[in-house]
Amino acid sequence: MKKILFIDRDGTLIEEPPVDYLVDSYEKLQFLPSVIQNLVDIVRHTDFELVMITNQDGLGTPIFPEEKFWGPHNLMMKTFETEGITFREVLIDKTFAKDKAPTRKPFTGLVTHYMQGDFDLENSFVIGDRLTDVQLAVNLGCKGIMIGKSLDLADDSMVDMEKVNKAMALKTDNWTAIKNYLIR
Ligand SMILES: [Mg+2]
Repeated sequence: MKKILFIDRDGTLIEEPPVDYLVDSYEKLQFLPSVIQNLVDIVRHTDFELVMITNQDGLGTPIFPEEKFWGPHNLMMKTFETEGITFREVLIDKTFAKDKAPTRKPFTGLVTHYMQGDFDLENSFVIGDRLTDVQLAVNLGCKGIMIGKSLDLADDSMVDMEKVNKAMALKTDNWTAIKNYLIR
């Protein structure tokens, strides 16, 4: 049975720009400290497969045209690839929070194919910087790892704090702690 790390993108792999939250230019592409070296270790020393899952609000609309997204995104992917970090899938939801789409985290619409079949979800993790990422872990039946210190109050209504606290395996501000936890 395959174990998966479902990894958020903005605020988790790369910095989430303040003010507009959009990585829509090369200047705004910045990796989190030590993320590459720690992912290299995780890939090398564990049997997790990596899946990226990200909400990109309004991607493809005038506020976030596709052509501004793919350049920085592809450079990020290429950088990971050259270090041997490959993702079996990159899942992008393009709706807004107000749409309450079933495909938008914390809902599982983009990952239903992992909920049946040969996946060991109990021993899989969602890694993200928001409580809604850990709520996705709850909804998937995996555990959650939270990086950073977002309070995510805006998404409160979708978060069941009791279940989120139970699913939370680790809360940290750095990738070295995540690596150490997963390799332990
Ligand atoms: Mg995030």
